[in-house]
This record gives sequence, C-alpha cells and structure tokens, in this order.
Amino acid sequence: MSAHPSKLSAAVLSIPQPLELSLLNGFAFTCRPDCSLCCFASPSISPQEHRDLLQIRPAGSFLEDEGGQATNVRSRPQGGACTYLHHRRCGVYTARPFPCREYPLSVHIGSRPQATLVLACPGISLAPLSQWSHGGPPSAPPQGLDSEIERVLAEATRQPLDQWLKEGRRIEDRTRSRLLRAHRWDAAEDLRARVISDLPWPSEEDFPAEDPPDSSEGWDALPLYFDEEHGPVTFLSRTEGWEAFSMREEGGPRHSLGLIPPLGAMPHLTEDARELLRGYLVYNLHRDFLFWLAYRELEAQEEATLEEMVREILRELAVQAMARSAFRAALQGSPWQTLRPRDIERGIRAIDNDFLDQATLGGIL
Ligand code: SF4
Ligand code: SF4
Repeated sequence: MSAHPSKLSAAVLSIPQPLELSLLNGFAFTCRPDCSLCCFASPSISPQEHRDLLQIRPAGSFLEDEGGQATNVRSRPQGGACTYLHHRRCGVYTARPFPCREYPLSVHIGSRPQATLVLACPGISLAPLSQWSHGGPPSAPPQGLDSEIERVLAEATRQPLDQWLKEGRRIEDRTRSRLLRAHRWDAAEDLRARVISDLPWPSEEDFPAEDPPDSSEGWDALPLYFDEEHGPVTFLSRTEGWEAFSMREEGGPRHSLGLIPPLGAMPHLTEDARELLRGYLVYNLHRDFLFWLAYRELEAQEEATLEEMVREILRELAVQAMARSAFRAALQGSPWQTLRPRDIERGIRAIDNDFLDQATLGGIL
C-alpha cells in the first residue's frame, strides 16, 4: 500500500494537477471478496482519518510518530493483517483511509503525477499487458476503477502536490544537467522508443537467480502474493532454498506450502508467455517510477548512461519475474522449465508489489 504524504502541512493550498492516467487504459478491475492481500499492511492515515476511525472504533490501535501523532493503522505482529480486518472483512469500511480507497492505484509524483496499477492485486486482469508489448497504452479506457480514480483525483486536489512537483522537477533538472555534461542523458520519449525496439532480456548467465530475495524480515515481511487456493502467501529463506507459507490474519503461518530449492537453469518461455513478459517490461518502461529508480542508481555511478541503467533495471526485473514464475510453478508441482502465460502472470503478481514499494526520489500519493 502506498504512503500518505504526512510530512506536508494540509494547510498549504495545493494547485490542482491533472493526473497522468494512461497507464490504467485497457485494464479491468473487480475486487475479489476472498482475497484481502492489500489488508496485510499498516495503512497510513491523516489526522482527520484518525478522528474518523476513532468515531467508528474507539479502541483502534495505531503507530505514532515522535510527537504522539497517529501515522498508521497498526498491523498484527508476525506478518498479520491490519487490526481492522476480521474474516477478510474491513471493520471500518466507510471510514477506511486513503491508501485503502485508492488501491490498486498508486500515484508516483516525480516531475508529474502519474497513476499506475499495483499488478500484484489479483482483481486486475493482466491480459492487457500483451498489448503493451507492441509499444504503448491500449486506447480502451479502464473498467471497474471509477471510484478509485475519483478518490485519487480528489486527494490530488486536497494535498499540496505542488510542493512535491517542485521538488521532483528540481531533482530531475539537477540530474539532467549533470548527465548532459557527461553525455549520459537521454530524453525519456527517445529512450523509450529505442529500448522498446530492442528490449533487454535475461540470459543463461542470470540463472540460478538470487530470487526470491533473502527474507531477512522473517514473518514480518509482507505476503509475496495471493494464491487462489491458500490466500496470502509469504516465504522464508532456508539453506536449501525457499519455503512458502499461507498466512493467518492474526499473524504467523497457517500451513507450509513446500520447500523449493534454487532453480538450476533459465526457464524457457512459450511464445505467448514471452509476449506477456515483454508487455510487463514495456509497461514498466512507461512508469515514471522506473526512471526515478535509474536516477537514484546513477547518483552512485560514474560511467553508466541513463539508457544503460534503464536497460539494466528492466533486465533484472525480467529475471525476477521469470524466477518467481518458476518458483510458483514448482510449488504447484508443475514443470517450471517451460513457463506459459498463466505462470508468467503469477510471477508478475509476485513481484509488482515489492517493486513499487522501493523508495524513490519523488513522492508517492
Ligand atoms: S488485493 Fe485487490 S482483489 Fe485483493 S482485496 Fe485488495 S483490491 Fe481486492
Ligand atoms: S482499514 Fe480496512 S481496508 Fe484498510 S487495510 Fe485495514 S482492514 Fe483493510
């Protein structure tokens, strides 16, 4: 779930900004009543949302900042869900905070506010990603996302986004000047067109992949994905590989789903699975967020160009998606050596949440 911009004063008037919404095109969304994946979280809250929640549930439990101001709804220990979730139902639905109302949308604020979808949400159909592999957004408008879009637009006029945008443009200008002097910069649109025509792709040398990553947070790590049969699933690293567990709302594991050793070789993808993964890479290439990750990496690099860094991030993303697709296929007892579209969908869902959760230089609404 995305963070609330709690550091900025709500008293500062915002300039309403149009949101860039094209990344929602072509997608359809229906929330699954059996899911609750996005409630395994500690959603951030504004002071007003805190007051509203206390009116409905006076005994609410919150995380607080140093000044004693409530900043987040508390989640249960050992990787459990938000304390308001009971039997997969929200106990404060009419007063649920903004991150819960916008999900599965997330807005990155770099030099413009851009809405994107958290593709880990199993309520979103991933089929439109194949259209992205041909270069850009489908023209069809999104379906089933009206209330989430309305909520985000309302929040974007309520919050002082102009301060974040000013800071985002300052960071981008500074990065551009530094890289231009060293001939390491490219305008995003030119760069996108070049990378799409020659997308980076993993090779045999990338396997066995170091993925899923080391789960050093133990049970406190967020679930990796929603499984149709077992619900939210998390995993622990073992010396022999990774062990997956279905998780309880109250925290802690329900069942072990199996132990999967590191996969020895690069999986093969069927043609339509390849198309889907290509679409996921192109979708990410259109996320401003990916460029901000590249800017951050380039701060520490003396030689690489922006294009090289973007290509590297995309290649690593493809490796992770293939590794998690194979991990999930192996867990189900399916042959992981050949991945089909259904497998790649599962891999993408097991990666997109934590990809978007990384810190950026810009803000996240
Ligand atoms: S993750 Fe998606 S489908 Fe699941 S409860 Fe949240 S919004 Fe609904
Ligand atoms: S407040 Fe409700 S919708 Fe939000 S995370 Fe908690 S249970 Fe889920």
